[in-house]
Amino acid sequence: MITEYHRAKDINEALEWLAQPGMHPLGGGTWLNRPHQEAFGVVDLQELGLNFIRKTGNNLEFGAVTTLQQLVEAPDCPVALKQALRIDFGLNIRNAATVAGALITGDGRSSFTTTMLALDAKLVITGKNSPGTIGLGEFLPIRPGGLITEISIPLNVNCAFEMVARSPKDKPIVCACVVRWPSGRTRLALGGFGKNPILAMDGTEPDGIDAAARSAFYESGDEWASAEYRINIAATLARRCLESL
Ligand SMILES: Cc1cc2nc3c(=O)[nH]c(=O)nc-3n(C[C@H](O)[C@H](O)[C@H](O)COP(=O)(O)OP(=O)(O)OC[C@H]3O[C@@H](n4cnc5c(N)ncnc54)[C@H](O)[C@@H]3O)c2cc1C
Repeated sequence: MITEYHRAKDINEALEWLAQPGMHPLGGGTWLNRPHQEAFGVVDLQELGLNFIRKTGNNLEFGAVTTLQQLVEAPDCPVALKQALRIDFGLNIRNAATVAGALITGDGRSSFTTTMLALDAKLVITGKNSPGTIGLGEFLPIRPGGLITEISIPLNVNCAFEMVARSPKDKPIVCACVVRWPSGRTRLALGGFGKNPILAMDGTEPDGIDAAARSAFYESGDEWASAEYRINIAATLARRCLESL
């Protein structure tokens, strides 16, 4: 339950409030406003100027407070990322939820987080003992505290997303995103299972993507699907992504 609210005027003020015990950054509030057992305070980020989308060289940079719908509507946003966002969140949630809030709360079944992982998204994190700029792949397993201010993804890439779910708008049982750079560098991220999506491959070329997909889901059995099923679907979706690039 939110028991304290502060609207910071700049990043330094936000960091000062966040240094107090029991304080959390407030994005769109769609997760923080849910019923929680413990009492906590929030620091509203909406006046920090972190609501922007800009193209810088080969990168798309966006502020942490950018809403998911702003990203969907951004002309430069990769089509595969828009597709993943529409699967993960309905329009009302996309209009309120922020990119940072979605990455903090996204789990292994999140199409958005899986696609951002394949894109090798970089997060800028500020605050005492914060890591500075960190790749999403390093961020997810540890989810260090601190204030996310900015996120960037590459634009000089080809990106494809595929998924299998019970229905077209349901969370995936298996999803795959393949991103290829002009150099041949190819990343495969798999979602649909566990606490975080899995980076199955980051190679200098696409060879071996089938084996990488299979081995990443070696122990992926749960109440939704057996590991054997996920292994076969992951390999099929990874191949489909690659063929569509
Ligand atoms: C009706 C409903 C349906 C939903 N459906 C889905 C769904 O289908 N799929 C799904 O994945 N989620 C869903 N959610 C959950 C929620 O929408 C997501 O978790 C959302 O992306 C959170 O974003 P937010 O900006 O609202 O985060 P907030 O609620 O503001 O914050 C979430 C977390 O992120 C932290 N945070 C926010 N901004 C920053 C920052 N800049 N730096 C550091 N930490 C930060 C907060 O402190 C908090 O811990 C749903 C929620 C509701 C209410």
